[in-house]
Amino acid sequence: MGKQRSEELFERAQHCMPGGVNSPVRAWQSVGGNPLFVASANGATITDADGNAYIDYIGSWGPMIAGHAEPTVVEAVREVTASGMSFGASTAAEVELAERICRRFQSIDKVRLVNSGTEATMSALRAARGATGRDAIIKFAGCYHGHSDGLLVRAGSGATTLGVPDSPGVPQQIGELTRVAVFNDLESVAALCDSEVAAVIVEPVAGNMGVVPPEPGFLEGLRELCDAAGALLIFDEVMTGLRLGPAGYQSLCDVSPDLTCLGKVIGGGLPVGAYGGKAGVMDRIAPAGPVYQAGTLSGNPLAVAAGMATLDKLDEPGSYERLEEAGAKLEAGMKAALGTRKACVQRVGSMITMFFGTEKVSAYDDALACDTEHFGRFFQALIDEGVWVPPSQFEAWFVSLAHSDEQIEQTVAAIKRAVARSD
Ligand SMILES: *Cc1c(COP(=O)(O)O)cnc(C)c1O
Repeated sequence: MGKQRSEELFERAQHCMPGGVNSPVRAWQSVGGNPLFVASANGATITDADGNAYIDYIGSWGPMIAGHAEPTVVEAVREVTASGMSFGASTAAEVELAERICRRFQSIDKVRLVNSGTEATMSALRAARGATGRDAIIKFAGCYHGHSDGLLVRAGSGATTLGVPDSPGVPQQIGELTRVAVFNDLESVAALCDSEVAAVIVEPVAGNMGVVPPEPGFLEGLRELCDAAGALLIFDEVMTGLRLGPAGYQSLCDVSPDLTCLGKVIGGGLPVGAYGGKAGVMDRIAPAGPVYQAGTLSGNPLAVAAGMATLDKLDEPGSYERLEEAGAKLEAGMKAALGTRKACVQRVGSMITMFFGTEKVSAYDDALACDTEHFGRFFQALIDEGVWVPPSQFEAWFVSLAHSDEQIEQTVAAIKRAVARSD
């Protein structure tokens, strides 16, 4: 397929933007080749700058669960835009979205809207530190919680050692407050979870090292360890929140966190995040309490309208059943395509990852042992077949309500050919 326009745009972009992109994974560095630029998208189809169409499994990394340019979402945004785009004062729609979130999530009495998942997790940690008077936190290697300083830390060495900052620019002193545990390994948490720990933050289903489900008892065990240490348990449901169920993964696993972070789906493609929890913690947030957190565009009418319209789509009967059905169909097709190759498919609902070169991934080290070169070849073959998936082995693919059975079948056929071509 011709890719001249994308190539020309990337050339220009590299002169005026770091790496030519506004977020690193868009640059396709881990799979090689130049990234495609997008011209438009509709439903489950995305069209590049050269006019080639693809079936899309990135879905803006999760938010587009209703499909691209879903008419009801577009109309909702169009309508509010004409009445003014941001006021810096409160609106009825914000109250409605907050009420909807509080009604759904049993663990959330009060919620604060912010502008991204990064802001949600950063602010939730501040709330936890403010509530406990403690500074240390525990996160898991391979879990991503946005790019704030203290969360850009994974495991440099063993789980018992202090965190090593992942990125230059993160002060050592801040990195040291982050203790890194092993996902699905309660002992690694027990060894770190003491009276200095303000919070344990976790993706209840990890999606940012590829899809890694929690093993039975893991999340329950975290709840117990937090209670014993007097630390707060934070579920980062920015990815899983409204994607895996109407009341988050927490309602499916029946573990109640102290604080929950949301984002992506609740903004329907516009910049949104949220954090919430029990009134006792949330009432310490300014202006109710002394823990400061603010935002010029927080709860702005466009983002709220897009989020509400997306929730409306998800509230239609059978939505989550459809996402599960489409995900299961894709999973079955992937497994058949892989045959006896050393590889595996891991899925929870509409989040799914094909891992090459390994039979199971339950923690970050397993993910890192994958054959990323094989994935890179597979990715390129799949793009040639007209299927656009995340350009990295360590990401979830997202199925939306707009993916038809026919598109899933086309995808499975394309995967079959791409797998065969990339051996
Ligand atoms: C995407 C993501 C974030 C960061 O959200 P941004 O809106 O990109 O800042 C945080 N946590 C999880 C689990 C995510 O998947």
